[in-house]
Amino acid sequence: MPQAILEELKQYIGFDDSDARKLSELAAVVKPAFPRIVKRFYELIMANPDTRQVLGDDDKLAERLRGSMSDWLADLFSGDYGAEYYQKRSRIGHVHVRVRLPQRYMFSAMEVISQELKSAIREAVVKDPEDRIDSLQKLLALEMGIMLDSYRSSYSAQIRWNERSSYEEKLTRAQHLAHIGELAASLAHEIKNPLAGISGAIQVFDHGLPAGHPHKEILAEMLSQIDRLDRTVKDLLVYARPKPPQREPLRIGELFERTLVLLWEAPAMRSIDIRTEGFDSDVTVEADEVQLQQLFTNLVLNAAHACAEKGDIRCSMETSDAAVTIEIADSGIGMPSEVVRRAFEPFFTTKAKGTGLGLSICKRIVESHDGQVEFDSKEGIGTRVRVELPLKST
Ligand code: ADP
Ligand code: MG
Repeated sequence: MPQAILEELKQYIGFDDSDARKLSELAAVVKPAFPRIVKRFYELIMANPDTRQVLGDDDKLAERLRGSMSDWLADLFSGDYGAEYYQKRSRIGHVHVRVRLPQRYMFSAMEVISQELKSAIREAVVKDPEDRIDSLQKLLALEMGIMLDSYRSSYSAQIRWNERSSYEEKLTRAQHLAHIGELAASLAHEIKNPLAGISGAIQVFDHGLPAGHPHKEILAEMLSQIDRLDRTVKDLLVYARPKPPQREPLRIGELFERTLVLLWEAPAMRSIDIRTEGFDSDVTVEADEVQLQQLFTNLVLNAAHACAEKGDIRCSMETSDAAVTIEIADSGIGMPSEVVRRAFEPFFTTKAKGTGLGLSICKRIVESHDGQVEFDSKEGIGTRVRVELPLKST
């Protein structure tokens, strides 16, 4: 019940029937002062760029404003401050919100009106003017309360609206992902088995050819393309069907070294000088082994790809009280700022044979382990990736 606010405010301010009566008795004596007050109010609006722009150049709007200001003043002394009064007042509040009148101007405007009305009351030689001014002050405070409540309710409606739309966005994104997931899963099955068959058949042909036969090279290229397809399908599956991490105590330094050994054979790693430092095998985190292995594989392979012909990769591990940080620094081509900005986007790649899913998978893995991953890259000098994982899972 919005009107409950009115009663609450009246009670809080101590505005009662005797105040209402005192104000209504003033109606006739203050009325002559209204044109002056309206004029003053209008001049104030026009003197300030913020409030002036609310009116713009619209003369009709200005005329209407002067009219409603007079009505507003008259209502102050109507003596009837019930439901209808509340409705009118909160409507005015909502107009203020709609025209984006900054709240702070209401305070100064109200103060000016209050001064003007007070001097009008004093000049009118009524009985006991200060007592009536007291009642007026209470009513103006009430007005202010209603007006501020209009701002509050419209802001909270706005916030609810924003929350809802971002929730809906998330929902659509989740549905979208679920959709890709299903599609990817069925595609993966449709593609993987024939791929394995084709790859087997090619190997049979290859074995049948004598060493040095020119077709051998073509077959090798076919195999490498099939390998790429297979990787893309796998990446897509991982990306589209993220699994929550199966956490168990894991010696992270040891896992990293183990991952490097597995990568040793990768073609991209052949001409790379890779060094490690500080991989303490006693440090344990609660983490998913398969996921962390994938994380390190993606990062180290990216570093190797960036190095092209020849390069260094320096991997280091540091442990603090709360977290372990693994850094992978390469002497590769580095990234322009545009690439840094987009590197984590799914399907963003600058490589002819890339899937663009590696880093988005990395980010998700790190975040699902309550960690952080960040880049520091200089074009032509190299890239440093830092992964920070908490030692205790939350
Ligand atoms: P992909 O490796 O399939 O291209 P990623 O998501 O792993 O996809 O990486 C996205 C892009 O980020 C890469 O194509 C590359 O341009 C850039 N990138 C990632 N790691 C590095 C790095 N260590 N050095 C330079 N560029 C990198
Ligand atoms: Mg990659």
